[in-house]
Amino acid sequence: MAEHPAAYTVDPARIEGVVDQPLFAAVAEEARERGIPAFAIGGHVRDLLIGRPSKDIDFVVEGDGIGFAQAVARRLGNEPVHVFKNFGTAMFTLRQAQGDMRQAQGDMRQAQGDMRQARGDIQVEFVGARKESYSRNSRKPEVEPGTIHDDQLRRDFTINALAISLNAGSMGALVDPFGGLLDLDRGLLRTPLDPDITFSDDPLRMMRAVRFATQLGFTIDPSTFKAIGRNAQRLDIISAERIHTELNKIILSSRPSIGFILLRDTGLLAHFFPEFLELQGAEEKYGIGHKDNFYHTLQVLDNVCAASDDLWLRWAAVLHDIAKPRTKRFDPEHGWTFHGHEDKGARMVPGIFRRLKLPLDDQMRFVQKLVALHLRPIALTKDEVTDSAVRRLLFDAGDDIDALMILCRADITSKNERKKDRYLRNYDLVLRKLAEVEEKDRVRNFQPPITGQDVMMAFGVGPSKLIGDIKTVIKDAILDGHIANDRSQAWQLMLETGRKLGHPPVAGMETPIAEQPQR
Ligand code: ATP
Ligand code: MG
Repeated sequence: MAEHPAAYTVDPARIEGVVDQPLFAAVAEEARERGIPAFAIGGHVRDLLIGRPSKDIDFVVEGDGIGFAQAVARRLGNEPVHVFKNFGTAMFTLRQAQGDMRQAQGDMRQAQGDMRQARGDIQVEFVGARKESYSRNSRKPEVEPGTIHDDQLRRDFTINALAISLNAGSMGALVDPFGGLLDLDRGLLRTPLDPDITFSDDPLRMMRAVRFATQLGFTIDPSTFKAIGRNAQRLDIISAERIHTELNKIILSSRPSIGFILLRDTGLLAHFFPEFLELQGAEEKYGIGHKDNFYHTLQVLDNVCAASDDLWLRWAAVLHDIAKPRTKRFDPEHGWTFHGHEDKGARMVPGIFRRLKLPLDDQMRFVQKLVALHLRPIALTKDEVTDSAVRRLLFDAGDDIDALMILCRADITSKNERKKDRYLRNYDLVLRKLAEVEEKDRVRNFQPPITGQDVMMAFGVGPSKLIGDIKTVIKDAILDGHIANDRSQAWQLMLETGRKLGHPPVAGMETPIAEQPQR
């Protein structure tokens, strides 16, 4: 998973055989027949040169990109083609069988699965070369047909403007007007035009600069970096969807801390995620300090990333302490406290997700749940770790217990080695206890042994409060270990509780009846 400049060696020889591959050969052939120039361009060319896998390939033709795409797809027997008329682009999914893209893994799975979803399938996109000019208040550019050079000029970074010629006379040659190859070698992100123009034309490119710096481990060229600072407020005209797409790519990289620090230092973060910025700073009073929760959160996030690829678990790490600034108090006796930050944090999640237009369904609820529970496993170790506390944790976390434990482990970041060792030992203890209790009591997906229907039959009542009261008593008794998770013990407790509440059971109901459907 290493994404570091050292992991990449730039080797121009890597593009040598590429024009012989069926896709590229078909494009070259079509270009020759139509008599119009065609090029492979952008991310795929960059990734080829550094030996990084990529899932999409872009071509530019000096002419009608849509008609060209349809003709190439026909040549390869690889239809249908999806046309985006407004953008003047067309794309198709290159199925592995025709592709020979040197990624021949997963053929079996592919044959069975959805062809478009299968691993190894490649999105191929065509566009006519364009010349663009933007007006200041909109991202909708005025577009007119242009040359390959015009097209390269409107790309975001020199390393993303590299093209490979698929034209007779220069077949397979790298077209590199801005020194992109050198920048790739130096690990540098630099705009082809004056950065103020590039960023003002499409402010999302500032997010992309940070994203590529994080994914590739590259440096943002100082003048490009300064221009981001000057143009950061222009991010306000960019849709939340486009912003969160880049942010998620940063979060999905192997070390998102790099990206968050760059987002802060460029001034971008303030424009879409001010709560995260508030985590900064370590206040001191009477010689007592607290840790800087910005860096702590980033450490936790990087730790989680080493253990899981799950975007939403990573988001839970991003947000686990988000309410610390808003719950911070100084108590002369206990020093700094952040009481209730887990609950307040969970309540802040929907607002943040809504603003960033992230999904508001199961994924968000998962993040909320983890934020709310993130202190529970470690809190267990403050006292003796009782079975009943472990059962309650299992019950509350349900199937998300493994994710919660990853977050919890990642949250142990103390710089004091002795403290850290103690936390880690406690953590291991909780982990063992969880396995033990789950094995014994199976409360992870607790199904109550007594249903509402049972209660109605046993006491001859209709739907009523009695049902809820009895079910709560039974659930607590099981989680606290007073009775086993067993129907006949729960039945006796039901009768006892009903009697106490003034409801004698109906005759013949002293022992469990056949299980009644869930109500
Ligand atoms: P990846 O596919 O790994 O996310 P990429 O560089 O291929 O990275 P894409 O979004 O696939 O990024 O775009 C393909 C190419 O299109 C880029 O390499 C770049 O040349 C160009 N491009 C994409 N978005 C922009 C943009 N907002 N401004 C300028 N050029 C862009
Ligand atoms: Mg791409």
